[in-house]
Amino acid sequence: MHFSGPIVRPQTDADSLFIEVTVGCTHNSCRFCNFYEGVPFRMAKLEDIESDLKEAKGYLPTVRKIWANGGNPFVMSTEKQIRVWELIKRYYPEARLSTYAIITDFRNKTVDDIRRIKASGLDDLVIGIESGDDEVLEAVDKGYKSDEIIEACRKLDEAGLDYRMIYLGGLAGAGKLEASAKKSAAIINQIHPYYMYLTTVSVLPGTPLYRDMMEGKFKEATEKERIKEMRELIADVNIPITVNSENAASSVNFTVDLPTEKPLILNELDKFLANFSDDAEKAMSRRRHYMRSV
Ligand code: SF4
Repeated sequence: MHFSGPIVRPQTDADSLFIEVTVGCTHNSCRFCNFYEGVPFRMAKLEDIESDLKEAKGYLPTVRKIWANGGNPFVMSTEKQIRVWELIKRYYPEARLSTYAIITDFRNKTVDDIRRIKASGLDDLVIGIESGDDEVLEAVDKGYKSDEIIEACRKLDEAGLDYRMIYLGGLAGAGKLEASAKKSAAIINQIHPYYMYLTTVSVLPGTPLYRDMMEGKFKEATEKERIKEMRELIADVNIPITVNSENAASSVNFTVDLPTEKPLILNELDKFLANFSDDAEKAMSRRRHYMRSV
């Protein structure tokens, strides 16, 4: 198999067949991210993708899920994507085919392009939206503002391509998380992702965000503030969506369906926060400082 970059995928897709279609991320500038450090962006050759599919088919005649690996394969042109997705589906027509996109990838895609991409075999996208708060998006160099999130997701909604989103808490910094969650919820309520990965940032040595922290430009929030941020976001989101916080960076792990389980999870989080001790704060914070990836 051809793997020249790291395999990065959501936790729910760990049991997929991984096929490298691009390497690295075209943006590669988010201040908190170290996923593709020293890995320049490139597209995989079609013949390498086909050779991997042939090799995989020898071991796995059928698969349920395929994760098309790369930081943002959706950046590829419509025509290139159609060739790649058709090729993958020729080998595994039964599989759900998913990949990552970033909001700026939609700038040169029309609704009709996305319909053609879907028809060629791509089943769903995972988008690292991270936040709907413009101040946060600018501070961490995401490369877009919240109105562009709405514009990109409207194209997906119109084209009928399913999508999941990532919310990365903690980015607003100490004292600002709950207000930032409110702003994000107002944006999320205008889009239609069916699934949200709810996580929170760990400030990793070597990243620009770490430098910001050392220079006093960014102040890390407490673990308690991060949980309050999660609570605020869940309280304000009013679209039907599954929220999954089961990841290494999150201090509380749950998966809930909104709106049906909203009262239940808010109640659980309130109880957790009411009993949150200084020892719990210290233990969670110590654990976070050992993290070496987002
Ligand atoms: S967070 Fe995503 S878009 Fe930003 S640099 Fe990392 S991989 Fe690229």
